[in-house]
Amino acid sequence: MALLTIGVFARAARLSPKALRLYDELGLLTPARVDPSSGYRLYDPAQLEQARLVAWLRRLGMPLTRIRAVCGLEPGAAAAEVAAYWVQAERDTAARRDLAAFLIDHLSGKDNAMTSARSTSGTFGIRYASASHTGTVRERNEDTAYAGPRLLAVADGFGGGEASKAAGAGSAGSAASAPTGSTVRTPASAVAIDALKRLETGDAPLGDLLNALEEAARQANDTVSELAGSDPALAGVGTTLTAMLWSGSRLALVHIGDSRAYLLRDGRFFQITLDHTLVRSMVDEGRITAEEAASHPQRALLLRAMGGGGEFAPDLGVRDVRASDRYLLCSDGLSAVVDAEEIRRVVGSTPEPADAVRALIDAAIRAGGPDNVSCVVADVVTDVVADVVADAVADGVEQAGPPVLTP
Ligand code: MG
Repeated sequence: MALLTIGVFARAARLSPKALRLYDELGLLTPARVDPSSGYRLYDPAQLEQARLVAWLRRLGMPLTRIRAVCGLEPGAAAAEVAAYWVQAERDTAARRDLAAFLIDHLSGKDNAMTSARSTSGTFGIRYASASHTGTVRERNEDTAYAGPRLLAVADGFGGGEASKAAGAGSAGSAASAPTGSTVRTPASAVAIDALKRLETGDAPLGDLLNALEEAARQANDTVSELAGSDPALAGVGTTLTAMLWSGSRLALVHIGDSRAYLLRDGRFFQITLDHTLVRSMVDEGRITAEEAASHPQRALLLRAMGGGGEFAPDLGVRDVRASDRYLLCSDGLSAVVDAEEIRRVVGSTPEPADAVRALIDAAIRAGGPDNVSCVVADVVTDVVADVVADAVADGVEQAGPPVLTP
């Protein structure tokens, strides 16, 4: 069949000649022939389908490098790649939607209204409890749980000689030994949360809440990375982090890894964080089912974490709170062994945060306690005076803050 000039081909493909020249330069759509004397590009009519595919993918917002990869794939694999791209695009949009809602409120002055209402008619407060347990298999507790008047956090450390997340779930922690001899090493999870604790004394304006949390999380990441670089035995140490910063009317959330935050509101219980795991992305892309993910050999493999040598790319958001909201933060030592319905039952039926934390840890231990397990439970309450409970589980508590009164 005769080759088409760039003008004819452009009209048939509903693209501009300029776009076709760009696609050629980028290696997305190479002309069938370039006239050696005139330099004119000539196209085969059979290339129309690829030209249209490139145009559609551009309309989808897909980056050029990724379009090039899709164009090189068989149709089935190309479909999977487009599906994976779109899952990520929707996730990014959802994260930006929360941020946009927060900014709209902030710029339209709703924050100020809330602040003044607070001083005249009382405010929300939080009642909270936290605890962490080594479990029945691991020798050390690499988790850290913390709850204070402004900060709630759970972190799950890995690497440095302990069973590594990167090594998958099959590696048992009982065979691991501390890499620094007789020195008791501070877990990366505790290093990260210690770096966040300065937020307890900070007094960031509401508009700066998210900035303050993100900045503190970045510094925590730097500190964990320095720890990893300080000793060859600690290379690869890192931690998950799921933390919330309380402002009196809002909660800012930072999240990286596979620890989780859940919200119980009006009887409905749902996870408000996305696991940064390989299996979660495989479920999103339709490659495996949620059931298959639960028993997948690489279910513990993290795509994102703090430290560990990777890029620090946490999810960030700000949440409005309502009276009677209950938040649960937990490490995968709970969520991987106690099913969501049981977690929901305990969280929904145990009034005191300290009792709920204790019951959740007990449930994980009854399920075998194969991993360290950490929980924070925080209730949003009104007209608070002395509203804080920081409790401990009687046996095997690793950290629990002292009782503190809110201002
Ligand atoms: Mg864990």
